[in-house]
Amino acid sequence: MTQFLPVLPPVDERHVDRRRYPQGTAFMDGQYLPMSEAKISVLDWGFLHSDATYDTVHVWNGKFFRLDLHLDRFFGGIERLRMKLPFDREKVTSILNNCVALSGHRSAYVEMICTRGSSPTFSRDPREAENRFIAFAVPFGSVANKEQLERGLHVAISETVRIPPNSVDPAIKNYHWLDLVKGLLDAYDMGAETALILDTNGHIAEGPGFNVFIVKDGSLRTPAFGVLPGVTRRTVFDLCAQIGLSATASDITRAEIKGADEVFITSTAGGIMPVTRIDDTAISDGRVGSVTRRLMHLYWQKHDDLAWSAAVSYE
Ligand code: PLP
Repeated sequence: MTQFLPVLPPVDERHVDRRRYPQGTAFMDGQYLPMSEAKISVLDWGFLHSDATYDTVHVWNGKFFRLDLHLDRFFGGIERLRMKLPFDREKVTSILNNCVALSGHRSAYVEMICTRGSSPTFSRDPREAENRFIAFAVPFGSVANKEQLERGLHVAISETVRIPPNSVDPAIKNYHWLDLVKGLLDAYDMGAETALILDTNGHIAEGPGFNVFIVKDGSLRTPAFGVLPGVTRRTVFDLCAQIGLSATASDITRAEIKGADEVFITSTAGGIMPVTRIDDTAISDGRVGSVTRRLMHLYWQKHDDLAWSAAVSYE
């Protein structure tokens, strides 16, 4: 009997459409690779069960911003998940530096990931998996584009509830994003540009990849419960301490956020980004407020301060 074999394109064309990948460099399994070639096994627990932790730091004008804080959070997460890396902090720093240097980017989004990995026997016991470290540097990206940064984002509050902290510890930066993605799709349905979702008590929690702050009568507040302790959030606290503004973490209701004088979101992907509309409500006069502008300015200024940043070695 004649066997009809389908005519398949060569492996490269089937699995690697280079145009679909951002220009950048990855590190995995001991090698530096173009982004299009950095792939993991479908049997990795990171892929199958979101059993992974990660962190993202950015490089701006050739300098890492607050890399130490990102490394603290990354190594803290690895320990809490009972994973092990074959690299210490110094080696991870040098791998991240090399990814940026090889990519050539002066401004980059740099991710470090530790997955549970997979076990050679496909065992169901997570202790038998060999943990995997991956890093990559791609061009810098932002939650808000230039126009949105100038006029402020339109955010919708979704009814979706963030996964509770006693299920998944938000201090371990993770890929449990089904709630955040649902929130984002709800926001698009409502004609907004991004979303905020709720904590288990119905208060404002965070959004897909960012924390949120309100400014009321000159004081700042950000949710305390069930959110990732963001490095940009921490940076806002540090900036406020330097310029004598009060900033605290406590519950924020929907009425409070809509009645705020100013609202902004914070993320390594974009920094401090203004919000001028929530659902159908304009925040204050609907324009970016002066506290937000001042903090945005200081935030970017600190990227040149060597107490807050570290130069990439492009040698
Ligand atoms: N909240 C969530 C769920 C995030 O994924 C992120 C960043 O990816 C943030 C907040 C902001 O954290 P950072 O300021 O450290 O980027």
